[in-house]
Amino acid sequence: MINRTYGKIELTCDACELDSIAPVDAEDFDILVDNARNANWKLCKEKGQWKHYCPDCQRQPISRRSLL
Ligand SMILES: [Zn+2]
Repeated sequence: MINRTYGKIELTCDACELDSIAPVDAEDFDILVDNARNANWKLCKEKGQWKHYCPDCQRQPISRRSLL
């Protein structure tokens, strides 16, 4: 998911909610997306909402969240 704080935006993994991409200035959304892709994150649209998954979470079923 995308987190916005004090003029910065940051990407956090939608599955584990632990891994994140370092914050950039709010107007640099494109750079944030580039950084995520370069770090092998997966960005995909599910039911009209963008989801962001870190490399670790792509290797295992997303249903892991239901175990929490
Ligand atoms: Zn993750």
